[in-house]
Amino acid sequence: MHQPIAIIGAGSSGLAAAHTLRDAGYPVTIFELSSSVGGRATTRQLNGFTYDHGAQYIKQGSPASVSLITNRFRLPDLLDIAKPVWTFDSAGTIREGDPVQNAEPKWTYRGGLISLFQHMATGLDVRLRTSVASLHQQGSIWHLLDQHGQPLGSYQRVLITAPAPQALTLIQASRLDDTLHQAIHTHLSAAQYNPLISIMLGYRPAPSPRPYYALVNTDRQHPISWLAWEHEKAPERVPPGSGLLLAQMAPGFSRQHDHSPDSLLYQEAANLVTTLLNEALPEPCFQDIQRWPYALPATRADANALNTLTMPTGLAFCGDSFVGGRVHLSLEHGIDVARTLIATT
Ligand SMILES: Cc1cc2nc3c(=O)[nH]c(=O)nc-3n(C[C@H](O)[C@H](O)[C@H](O)COP(=O)(O)OP(=O)(O)OC[C@H]3O[C@@H](n4cnc5c(N)ncnc54)[C@H](O)[C@@H]3O)c2cc1C
Repeated sequence: MHQPIAIIGAGSSGLAAAHTLRDAGYPVTIFELSSSVGGRATTRQLNGFTYDHGAQYIKQGSPASVSLITNRFRLPDLLDIAKPVWTFDSAGTIREGDPVQNAEPKWTYRGGLISLFQHMATGLDVRLRTSVASLHQQGSIWHLLDQHGQPLGSYQRVLITAPAPQALTLIQASRLDDTLHQAIHTHLSAAQYNPLISIMLGYRPAPSPRPYYALVNTDRQHPISWLAWEHEKAPERVPPGSGLLLAQMAPGFSRQHDHSPDSLLYQEAANLVTTLLNEALPEPCFQDIQRWPYALPATRADANALNTLTMPTGLAFCGDSFVGGRVHLSLEHGIDVARTLIATT
């Protein structure tokens, strides 16, 4: 029997790593600070509306992630979003999108992107609402502690999947060899994240149908970077007769409005949407907001260099800080790093 391994974070990289390790005979325990799995690939249900307020869909990646989605954890409500993504610029000109990119599948689930991760988490030992606040290194053992200093368990191997800034906070609060601490700090600091505010606007009647499912801002000069017709994913995601537009605000706008009240942001987003679409939309009948402090990595850290240093001590790192902000890349990185951990134990 192999020694148990702790995984910090139940997002796509943590769950993919967990299955890879479990397949190889390692018992795994996943600690997740939030109340659900999926991390930034998640779904919310509120007032009859269902929406993916983080990642919008999963792109086709390597055979490893494709087989995970379409084979091993295939769900009957897996869907490929039918309509394409078009583009817009700062002047508001809307154009057809890239046909090559639009030919690729855009996978989500009728019930929301979270379905995949709930399915992957089934049967795994996942401790929800459990934040690992610090690690204490004692010889070859890592003691995990919560925010009250209470022990969460002791492990020889710990895999950290949190975005680099959160991983850094954890390392800074931890007790470990000084040289190792400094090296981890230097490597993780290379991954810088942009914030992103997602704003959901429900309309009744629904906005008029368009030939596209979403619009992406290509010149990066518009306050909105992405606008999606969430109800195009599946009609049952909204109450009958309603529609849901989801606006992801650009990094500059999101940073500038970090402390702006929700009411102001709803108004600003609704005005920007009306202007962009040149459509007389009614007052939104539903509004919701999600502020992502660490949405997408603008720069990455070097996982190989970091893991080469830390793995001999039992610590490993994976996730989108090292591979870029895409769900399929995080799934693949979780698998890769777990395989390396297996090979080095
Ligand atoms: C608004 C938005 C839109 C996006 N759109 C797309 C898209 O359309 N397509 C796409 O492919 N990707 C998209 N992405 C990126 C994608 O969501 C991420 O790259 C991917 O989900 C990252 O997975 P991960 O496992 O690396 O990290 P995460 O999903 O962040 O998982 C890490 C987990 O660790 C947990 N955690 C952190 N610290 C601790 C701690 N101390 N103790 C316990 N748990 C902890 C977190 O709660 C989280 O659940 C988007 C992201 C955002 C925010």
